[in-house]
This record gives sequence, structure tokens and C-alpha cells, in this order.
Amino acid sequence: MPKFFIKTYGCQMNERDSEQVAHSLLERGYERAVRETDADVVLLNTCSVRDMAEQKALGKMGMLGRIAKRRPETVFGFLGCMAQARGDSLFAEIPHLDLVVGTQKFHRVADYVDELLEKKRTRRMDDPRWSICDTDEEAGSAETIRDHELRPRQATAFVSIMQGCDMHCTFCIVPRTRGPERSRSIGEIVREVRSLVARGVKEVTLLGQIVNLYGRHEFPALDGKSPFVQLLEAVHDVDGLERLRFTSPHPIGFRDDLLRALAELPKLAEHVHLPLQSGSDRILKAMHRPYSAAKYRSLVQRIRETREEVAITTDIIVGFPGEEDDDYRRTRDLVEEIQFDNAFVFRYSTRQETPAAALPQIDEQVKEERNQDLLRVVDAAAQRINARLVGRELEVLCEGPSRTNPARLSGRTCTNKIVIFEGNPEMAGQLLDVRIAETTGFSLYGTPVMQPSTPVFA
Ligand code: SF4
Repeated sequence: MPKFFIKTYGCQMNERDSEQVAHSLLERGYERAVRETDADVVLLNTCSVRDMAEQKALGKMGMLGRIAKRRPETVFGFLGCMAQARGDSLFAEIPHLDLVVGTQKFHRVADYVDELLEKKRTRRMDDPRWSICDTDEEAGSAETIRDHELRPRQATAFVSIMQGCDMHCTFCIVPRTRGPERSRSIGEIVREVRSLVARGVKEVTLLGQIVNLYGRHEFPALDGKSPFVQLLEAVHDVDGLERLRFTSPHPIGFRDDLLRALAELPKLAEHVHLPLQSGSDRILKAMHRPYSAAKYRSLVQRIRETREEVAITTDIIVGFPGEEDDDYRRTRDLVEEIQFDNAFVFRYSTRQETPAAALPQIDEQVKEERNQDLLRVVDAAAQRINARLVGRELEVLCEGPSRTNPARLSGRTCTNKIVIFEGNPEMAGQLLDVRIAETTGFSLYGTPVMQPSTPVFA
């Protein structure tokens, strides 16, 4: 059978989409290739959020031209956000490209790959080029991301609950690449979670671009609970599920019902990723982020009052058009004050056809200085917070061998902190208590606490 290779750029939603595409190919009998050089089908699932992500995917596909020369029968495709944004113009840039599939058509990839392989196999190679581009919208496409390819002992899984975003932040290309908000039904999502748990999964992360605004166009609030809180309660009730996460919420939809859910649903992880973007009200307004720094600060305070041990992480953009020293100082001061457990700091990157792209831009050197400065503040806070965990016993869900050192195991605390520890590979998929011995920056290192009732420690 033909072999396929998928490389994914960007966020967890892209990882999830790639998993769905892999599932559909495996279901038809295709096999996974370990390397792109062994594959009959090479697919790059792309990201458009920053220019660098697009350039990486374009560069990679360009380099794959070497394989195309050696093995012209190989099928090459771009999927996802960049494919959606650039469409068939990509064929002019990459001569060996055969397939471009947008964000609402992942479920069609297997059909297109079958068709292209067949065409390449049966036609003479000097025939005119054939190619397929499908970036159309499709009603119901959000419901098609629902199948999983689990590794043995896989303990965690992502569940895509909605697609798209109607917020239109002025820096963001997502509303263009992912389309308007569309949510799956609670029943469908619960069915998916039940089936994951039946296969051994203990933790699910509900995914959406603005996950807490799930279902706001489709389903009514009930008893003062938003559709998202109704969904959290329904998923929380799944027997055998140990932990429930969600990412990423928008501060604007983080209301009292969600705070109550955080207090009342014990399986909800003690971690909230709450994008801030800027600490300057002037810049927040220019970004079309409908909250102030004071509102954000007060929300963080209320989340911390609700769950004392909660970890809070964030996203911040520095160098947005018009960001003066004083605006940056406000961001820095707020980050210093809040003491995030971690923050992803991004230099503003111009995205075509977004409103901010037309504004006068900040010097790259200034962006870089602010980026480095803010990272120092973020790192110092993260190290202080993690140092307080040394000596404590934390419950860790073991995910398997560590990526950086496969001789050790890696897992996450309920607060989403990575813990590295010695142990038996059979611990993968188990919840263990680990005593934290040290921390180096963002990772914690520890030793499992022996539990006589757990045979894998023998
Ligand atoms: S809410 Fe998030 S995904 Fe939606 S436009 Fe803003 S940054 Fe983009």
C-alpha cells in the first residue's frame, strides 16, 4: 500500500486536524512512512499565524523538490491555514505541488490523494499538469474532526469542539483562514470523549480558537449557564475521565458561570491559558480586544480566588503597530505584577489582509528588544513559581518517554507543568505521585513516590 508522511506546523488544532487526515488514510489501507523520503504522499499541514511559519512550510516544500525529481510519482500537498489563505497561487510558487486543501476540507484529503496517485500511476509523465485545489467552505465541516489515532498507552487527547472565530482581532488572520464560528453538538463531543476514555485516555483537552464562546450562535444558555459550561458539565460526567482541560479562552467570555464551573468541577485542570496580548488599553483597543488591562487583572484575581493553586499562562504580542515605550512599559508592568506561570511572547508579524497590516509598523530592532526584555520577566516569574514546588509531591499523568531524553519519563501536573522522572515505560498512561527534587526553568524533575498497590513499581 502507498505510504504517507504528514508534517504539522502551528497549533494544537493543526495537530488535531493532521491526526484526522492520518486516520482517514490509515482507514483506507495507507501506511505511515517514518521519513518523507520513504513516502508516496507527503503532506504539509500549515500555519498562517506568523510569517515565519508560512516561510518554513514553503521552504520545506521547496526542498522536497529533490524527491519530486527523483520520484515524480510522489504526491505533494499543502493542507490547512496557509493553503486556505493562498489557495491555488501556491501552484505557481511550487512547481511540483499537486494538492492544496483548505481548513474546511480535511475530510476530502484521502479522496484527493487516491485520485492523484491514480492519475500519476496511469498517465504518461509528460502529460499536462494535474492538480487539485479545494478551499471551499462546507457546512458541517466542524463535525468531521472526530476520529483519533491513539498510540499504545496514550493518556491524553485533543478534542476539537468548534472551528473558526468571529472576534476579528486586527492582527489575526484566523477568521480568514478558519472561517466563522461553527460548533459541534454536545452529544457528538461527549460521544467522542466516551470512546477515547474507553480506549484508555484519562485526560482530554477541548480545543477551539475561542473555546469559551463555544456554541454561542447555535445553542441557548440554560439556567444561567453558557453552552460552553453546559458542555464542560456533560464531559465532566464521563466515567473514567480523570482530567479535563480547554484552550484557548477569550477573556471576554470568561464569566461567572465559568468561574463557578472551575470551582465546582473537580476534574477541570488547575490551569487557565488566558491570552492578554497587551497591557496597554490604547493598544488593546487598536487590536480590537474588547477588555481593559484593569478588567484582565481583576479576572486573573477572581480565577485565583476560585482555585488557589491554579496556574495561569498567557500570550502577548510586542511591537504591535503604534506601540510606544509607554505602552510596552504597561505590558511589562502588568506581566511583572501578575506573575504568570508561563507566557508565549510573540513579536508582531504582519499578516496580509488584516487591518493592522495597513498601519505604520514598528522597527524590527525595537520589537526584538521588547521581546527579549519581556521574556526575561516571564522566565524569572516562572522560575520563582516552580522553585516553590521543590520538595512537594504532585500528581502527574505520565505521557511516556521524555522527548529530550527517552531514557526518562515525562508527564504533566494538573497545572500543566512538565515533570521529568525516572521510571518504567509501563507507567505511561498512569497517574502517579512524584516528589519534586529540582527545577530548571520551566521543567520540574522528581522521583515517583512508591505505591505498593501499583505493580509496575515492582
Ligand atoms: S480571538 Fe483569537 S482567533 Fe479570534 S481573531 Fe482574536 S486572536 Fe484571532
